[in-house]
Order: sequence, then structure tokens, then C-alpha cells
Amino acid sequence: MLGMQELADRYGRVARDLRVSLTDRCNLRCTYCMPAEGLPWLPTEETLTDAEVVRLLRIAVEHLGVHTLRFTGGEPLLRKGLEGIIAAASRLRTADGAAPDLALTTNGLGLDKRLPGLIEAGLKRVNVSVDSLDPTTYARIARRDRLPEVLRSIQAVDDAGLRPLKINAVVMRGENEDDVLGLAGYALEHGYQLRFIEQMPLGPRHTWDRSRMVSAHEILDRLGARYTLTPAVQPRGAAPAALWNVAPDATQPGGAIGIIASVTAPFCADCDRTRITSDGQVRSCLFSQRETDLRALLRGGGSDEEIAEAWMGEHLIKPRGHGIDNDDFVQPERTMSAIGG
Ligand code: SAM
Ligand code: SF4
Repeated sequence: MLGMQELADRYGRVARDLRVSLTDRCNLRCTYCMPAEGLPWLPTEETLTDAEVVRLLRIAVEHLGVHTLRFTGGEPLLRKGLEGIIAAASRLRTADGAAPDLALTTNGLGLDKRLPGLIEAGLKRVNVSVDSLDPTTYARIARRDRLPEVLRSIQAVDDAGLRPLKINAVVMRGENEDDVLGLAGYALEHGYQLRFIEQMPLGPRHTWDRSRMVSAHEILDRLGARYTLTPAVQPRGAAPAALWNVAPDATQPGGAIGIIASVTAPFCADCDRTRITSDGQVRSCLFSQRETDLRALLRGGGSDEEIAEAWMGEHLIKPRGHGIDNDDFVQPERTMSAIGG
């Protein structure tokens, strides 16, 4: 019988956090993530069914030591069965008898309407991506004019009391560097945890240029010009965001802002993540050049033990780091939308 094992790699890291991509489809087309057109969706028959997804979640939580499940995509709200998948996930138990921590990363479109059902299913935390509070800038980056719907959903999450409510913003030169302070003010005023993300080479090919990337350092400089910041002292663990405390002042109540410096200050040494794409491939790293096909095992009559073995095998050879700075760095074939961020 299959007992409890671990997703360990050669460098002493153990994965506890599973990012599950539920679809490669999206209703936005953010410039840093997807091309404007011409990215064919996976055919439905190649996408894992709800039952297949739940089986992988069960193996991860009950047999591979995973305790956090984050649903992503593409846009996970486009997955019709999301509530059912979350409800099934909330009934799983880790080795110490706890329910897994269930979180969602979303662009927020339609979240306000789905939220009661998702909470009832067991969803505990939500990250919403919004790169600008200016409708024109938002529409330029997302290639869709839908900011008011996103803000309505953030308000709905706030009203429902889900905390921490995290906001993700990728900062791009010539696009939204001037929105850094506006986003910060909005998040501080409402008590949301804003995380600025350095743009990574995971979008359309040949569109990323390190010399043009807005670095964590630059974001911090912009914030420092307006706020009094001190590094948060708590141990960061495997969290991607370095947190900064913002002192309260006459205009805002203080809070914390995170910066995810994936490029200029990689946190690969502490990474505790493993990933499943919507077509059932294990990826040990966003930047992996290889995958292991769990869908073939699922559909070929593979046992839980065989699936767990294949997953552990892929994870064992997780690269030490993403290697963006190496001369031989090659961007992965899949864009971020097809990997699951
Ligand atoms: N559609 C959902 C959303 O936008 O939140 C979930 C999937 S999206 C791929 C997850 C996160 O990845 C988002 O916060 C998005 O901003 C981020 N992301 C996408 N492409 C990126 C890139 N090239 N560099 C850094 N972050 C990126
Ligand atoms: Fe869609 Fe999210 Fe990618 Fe934007 S970042 S295109 S919302 S998957």
C-alpha cells in the first residue's frame, strides 16, 4: 500500500505547495503573459477532467506531503467545475489530519458572482491580479477594458472577509511604473497585501528584455519616495515575496507591501513548489525544460503508487535555479498562461 512519501529534490528542498493549473484559457490577454492572438487552446480532451484533477490532488495531499493547493491557470474561473474541485479538495486530509490550505489566483473577472459558492466549497484565500487602477492603462496591458469588474470582485472578496487579500501587480517599463504609488495607496487604504512582481521571461517569445525590466530595487525606490519602509522581520520561509512594513501616516493606516524579485533576487534555494499543468504534466519549476506526463498514467490505468513515483521522479531532478542569468538560458516552450503561475 502507498504510504506517505515526499517530493524531495537533490538540493534538499521538499515541495509542500502545489500549483494546479485548471485551464490554459483566459479571458484577458496580458501582454507579459500571452500573445495578442494565435495561441491555440488545448483541446478539451487533452485537459484533465475534474475527477482526474481530484485524483492528483488526493495523491499529492495524502501521499506526497503537499499541504497547500493553489488553483490557477490561465484563468481558473473559466473552469466550470471549480467549485466541485475545491469542495473535493477541502475533504482531503494531510498526514497530520489537517485540511489542505486552499487558495485561488485569479484575474477576478466574474469572481464576485462565484464567490459565495467558492467559499462554501472551502476556498480560504484569494489573490487577484490587477496591474493598474487606471482603466486605460489596465486595458492596454490586459488588452481588454475590464477594470471595473475586477475592482468589484476585489470588493466582494473584502466584504466576504477572506484574509489576507493579496493583489498581484507585474510592473512593466513604459506601461505602469507610474502606477506603483497609486496601487500602493489603494492597497494600504483597504488593508490588502499588495505584491509587486518583476516581469519574468514567460510571455510571448522575444518580448522580455532584462535591461528594460523594472527591478525590485527600482520599485522600492519609488515606494521609498512616498512611504517609510522597513523590512519585515518575520522569517520569509518559502514565500516568494519579500515583505516591507509601511509606517502609518496622516494619509494611510500603514500595512505591508511585498516585492517578488524572481529575476534580481531569486528565491529558488527556498522554493517549495511543484506544478501540474491543465493537461496533467508535472513541472518542478516554472522554467523547466521538461515535464512528466501524469495524464498518460491516469488514462492508462496507472495505480496511485505509479503516479506518485512518476511525480517524485520528476521532482527529484528539479533544477537548482531558474538560470535566467545563464548564457545558455532558454525560455520554456509554454507561456505563463499554459504553465500556471
Ligand atoms: N489568470 C490568473 C491571474 O492573472 O491571476 C492566474 C494565472 S496568472 C498566469 C498568475 C500570475 O502570474 C498573475 O499574477 C500574473 O500577473 C503573473 N504573471 C503572468 N505572466 C508573468 C510574467 N511574465 N512575469 C511575472 N509574472 C507573470
Ligand atoms: Fe490571463 Fe492571468 Fe495571463 Fe493575464 S496573467 S493573460 S489574466 S492568465
